[in-house]
Amino acid sequence: MTAHPDYEVVIGLEVHVQLRTRTKLFSTAAVSYGDEPNHHTTPVCLALPGALPVLNGEAVELAMRAALATNCTVHPISIFARKNYFYPDLPKGYQISQFEEPLATEGWLDIQVDDDEGEIRTCRIGITRIHMEEDAGKSLHDGSVVETHVDLNRAGIPLIEIVSEPDMRSPEEAGAYLRKLHAILRSVGASDADMEKGQFRCDANVSLRRHGSTELGTRREIKNVNSFRFVEAAIRAEIGLQAELLGEGGQVHQATVGYDAERDRIFLMRSKENADDYRYFPDPDLIPLQVSEERIEEIRAALPELPEARLARLVETHDLAEAEARQLLVDQGLADFFEAMVAAKAPPRRAARWLSRDVVAWLNEHDRELAAVAGTPEQAATLLRLVEEGRLTVRSAADLLPDLLERGGDPEAWMRERGLEAVSDEGALDTMADEVLAEQPKAVASYKEGDAKSVNFLMGQVMRKTQGKADPGRVREILIRKLEAL
Ligand code: ADP
Ligand code: MG
Repeated sequence: MTAHPDYEVVIGLEVHVQLRTRTKLFSTAAVSYGDEPNHHTTPVCLALPGALPVLNGEAVELAMRAALATNCTVHPISIFARKNYFYPDLPKGYQISQFEEPLATEGWLDIQVDDDEGEIRTCRIGITRIHMEEDAGKSLHDGSVVETHVDLNRAGIPLIEIVSEPDMRSPEEAGAYLRKLHAILRSVGASDADMEKGQFRCDANVSLRRHGSTELGTRREIKNVNSFRFVEAAIRAEIGLQAELLGEGGQVHQATVGYDAERDRIFLMRSKENADDYRYFPDPDLIPLQVSEERIEEIRAALPELPEARLARLVETHDLAEAEARQLLVDQGLADFFEAMVAAKAPPRRAARWLSRDVVAWLNEHDRELAAVAGTPEQAATLLRLVEEGRLTVRSAADLLPDLLERGGDPEAWMRERGLEAVSDEGALDTMADEVLAEQPKAVASYKEGDAKSVNFLMGQVMRKTQGKADPGRVREILIRKLEAL
């Protein structure tokens, strides 16, 4: 998709991801969210004199999983450095982060995007580096008083920063890259990546250049956008601003900006006339992080199935169209539910369509999560089998969907109790069709005069006799056969 007619858009993303550990990166304080402020701190988090950091091995393993799953090279030695700056939520006066020698470099992800012709195109987005670092605390600005409080529960929580090459060319590509990255990190268990809890935060660097130019334009960085949709919208808004400026003969100045989603506006945070100087140096309290070749291979071998491989397997084993399988993989839970349904003998294609359309629509409408529905995959499989066997119409199945999701139970029993069993008995349908044809000579005559639509009216009459419990397609077939024979 072309993002702008006059300029080529260049986007590079920096993503901060919270690793799924129980404790912090350099201390035994628990990783928590939403607890009372300052209840999860140790002398290390508080930067008390003499407190020494001890590296959390679990965090290293999760970071390595993330790196290997994104095709990075994991380095046998990486170095933790001090990034010095002053901020009230950073009591040490520096953040520990890997700088010159990061854990991993040179990875990539392949993403799928729609091109101008509506075809799906694959493009490869380079990953420059993945490094480990600790999170900072949180400043709480209480609106009612002129005071700022500091909560250090978050200080020292393990993060990885995933820096991409400036390889994306449209907001949609940036969105596709983020969604893919998000799915991979979750599937390998590196992070829960819950965006609402700030576990997956994105900074988007955007610049424009004339089509055909090989030099990069000056970028501006949109800070901390935390939903896929907003990242795309923020980049779109930023492209608009830069294009307007350049179109008027102006110049883009490097800057850090924010995005106000409510107003769909970009606002200036700070201009970056001169680069920040963090006076990085290796942290003398921490020895270089060493990982053996065996350990790397062990972690690589133990990686679970990645979304892309799962896609291929779903297409292959269940004869799904690629687009159908992709829709299931939008959410790992959806794909899991699907596989459990198929294991319980649900017809695969019908199950895929039902989940990604009907169920997703219902969940969205009721603002619910699939994980919280009452119905089991086995019960759902029963429902779809009844449809497949012609015992329940698609319409009746749709009527039972809320019961299934909300309460759970046996769809076959509901069908019997509520008298929903479809009239699929050919003989019965045949008789009803004959009756209708006899009762509606006018409609029959107009059909015969070439008004094909009158069959719809006749269908409606037969459906009424079945109280809506027949397959409309089947009724239509029977009617047309009879009308043609008249
Ligand atoms: P910093 O750490 O100062 O933000 P980096 O050089 O590490 O700077 O780049 C950060 C991100 O910005 C990377 O994802 C990179 O791909 C992207 N980037 C760099 N230059 C440009 C540019 N001219 N246009 C768009 N993105 C860019
Ligand atoms: Mg940056």
